[in-house]
Amino acid sequence: MVLELGEERLQAQRMVREFVDREVAPHIAEWDREQRTDPILLPRMGELGILGICLPTRFGGQGYDYLTLGLVCEELERMDTSLRVIMSVHMGLNSLALLQWGNDEQKRRLLKPQALGEQVGAFCLTEPGAGSDVAALRATARRDGDAYVLNGEKMWVSLATRADNFLVVARHDTEAQPAHMGLSAFIVNRDMVGVTTGDIHGKLGIRAGSTGWVAMQDVLVPLRNRLGEEGEGFKIAMSALDNGRYTVASGATGLIRACLEASLRYARERRSFGQPIGQHQLVKQKLAYMQQWYDCARLLWLQAGWLKNRGQRNSRETGLAKWYATDHSVKAALEAVQLHGAYGFSDEFPVERYLRNSKGATIYEGTSEIHQLMQADYALGLRKDRTLRCELPAWDEDFWLGDDVAP
Ligand SMILES: Cc1cc2nc3c(=O)[nH]c(=O)nc-3n(C[C@H](O)[C@H](O)[C@H](O)COP(=O)(O)OP(=O)(O)OC[C@H]3O[C@@H](n4cnc5c(N)ncnc54)[C@H](O)[C@@H]3O)c2cc1C
Repeated sequence: MVLELGEERLQAQRMVREFVDREVAPHIAEWDREQRTDPILLPRMGELGILGICLPTRFGGQGYDYLTLGLVCEELERMDTSLRVIMSVHMGLNSLALLQWGNDEQKRRLLKPQALGEQVGAFCLTEPGAGSDVAALRATARRDGDAYVLNGEKMWVSLATRADNFLVVARHDTEAQPAHMGLSAFIVNRDMVGVTTGDIHGKLGIRAGSTGWVAMQDVLVPLRNRLGEEGEGFKIAMSALDNGRYTVASGATGLIRACLEASLRYARERRSFGQPIGQHQLVKQKLAYMQQWYDCARLLWLQAGWLKNRGQRNSRETGLAKWYATDHSVKAALEAVQLHGAYGFSDEFPVERYLRNSKGATIYEGTSEIHQLMQADYALGLRKDRTLRCELPAWDEDFWLGDDVAP
């Protein structure tokens, strides 16, 4: 594994940092307080190429690799989790699933506008009665000639009220055994008759981001919007999660960095007992742990990104990176609040927002408990990653930056 990131990737990272420092930093505390998603953010991220950062230029993307995607997510979440969530659902869970499983016609029709930021993608797996237990989901997709009729309700959908295209997993076969073999994946457009969406209010964190529900009542989805084959919905969902989790892992790493940076600043400024608090051993211990967690989290997502670039399966490594980074971002945020004393308890400093924002990622894209079970099963030899009919393509310079001709 090569740890040298190279000038091009770092340039993309700097571009994102300049964008968030200039255009988001002055407003984010207010957006969070008012629980408001600024409508200008998505178009602006599209304009800057962030929404298509690691997609091939032939499909409208910027042609960067998966490591650059990780750097971008780190930088976005260093500012606010809501920004990284956009990348997790639009890029990780939706666009990369289209790149992996879509046919050429779907990539041109559906992926290209998303890569250009003209349309936004989201991911609909969770339901009111089914989260971790994906095979228990109840939304249905009944075949009707050259179309499917979709019914059901999806909950906790990030960007529910913003997205144009939803990757929906629904049950085409209610009798299938095992149950997950009865699932298929579809692209549902917001403007299809029978689609309604709404926001969920009163969230603990990610308040500057949109999280909501998507209801489908007799929605007619043409066959050409089915992603993969009938019965591949579960595999598509799990591989989409491999990509989403990668963005969550790198993003949470950025949150640990934000906690460390805020804590270092405060430790140098705040004085007690005649010296900066950073001189006290127990304060130093917090800083040392945050540094350790940051470095470990970063190495883990870099490992996953490196495997992705080479086209190697990385479910175990990505899951480990996601579990480690998210659990430790909560720890880092708790320590950062503690280090700030009473000021950490107020919104005068950003660390209370970091703490509220950090918690969600230990729940979505596999709870920490589910990740522990998975890691134990890998270690025990009870779980193995099998080859998929469609793998996420390795990053290849000729293809990624090549001409817009059929591959
Ligand atoms: C902010 C936010 C954004 C989200 N965005 C999306 C999105 O864009 N799209 C989407 O589809 N979903 C999204 N989700 C939903 C998320 O993926 C689910 O909440 C998650 O999968 C957990 O499901 P659940 O909430 O139903 O919890 P449950 O599955 O009901 O779990 C409840 C508790 O039981 C534990 N548990 C369950 N099963 C086991 C087991 N076998 N062993 C041990 N413990 C277990 C869990 O770890 C958890 O602690 C989002 C959630 C949040 C909070």
